[in-house]
Amino acid sequence: MTKKVGILALQGAVAEHGKMLEKIGQSFVLVKTKKDLDGITHLILPGGESTTMTKLLKLFGMWDVLEQKIKNQEIMVLGICAGAILSQRFGLQVEIDRNAYGGQQHSFSTNLESDLFPSLRGIFIRAPKFTKVSDDCCILATYEGEPVAIEDRNFLVMIFHPELSEYYAIYEYFLKK
Ligand code: GLN
Repeated sequence: MTKKVGILALQGAVAEHGKMLEKIGQSFVLVKTKKDLDGITHLILPGGESTTMTKLLKLFGMWDVLEQKIKNQEIMVLGICAGAILSQRFGLQVEIDRNAYGGQQHSFSTNLESDLFPSLRGIFIRAPKFTKVSDDCCILATYEGEPVAIEDRNFLVMIFHPELSEYYAIYEYFLKK
């Protein structure tokens, strides 16, 4: 099946993911309407504001079709921060607590522990926390013993921003899914 990569482009850190995909030579489309979802096999749900993105997806009539395609595993999802919150709403098997690392002024950057992604740096901006993770999920990275990146079926989800630390291996891993 041919790969068709999209970035949900209703709100949030869209351009940064576009730059990452360009740098690894991957073409993509910006997803702004229901029609734009046609044929998408890989979709980035970017960081931003999950409440706003949820409202816009519903307002533009995209929520139900996206939910269906994700639940049917027709679409691989890379969910970042607010995108992790959306992923949970689309079936990622976790519980998640919004803004659990504090507000904007509590943003921070730190080294993370990961066997899969060496020298991984995490930039956290009003990040949520995974408060419960199903046994079906695979924890790919931790910070102070807590999960910060998770893989679950068609989901690859993290609460930090790999587009800001320019960590290409995560994109390459996602595109192989
Ligand atoms: N706090 C935001 C939310 O709840 C997420 C922040 C981010 O994506 N950097 O949607």
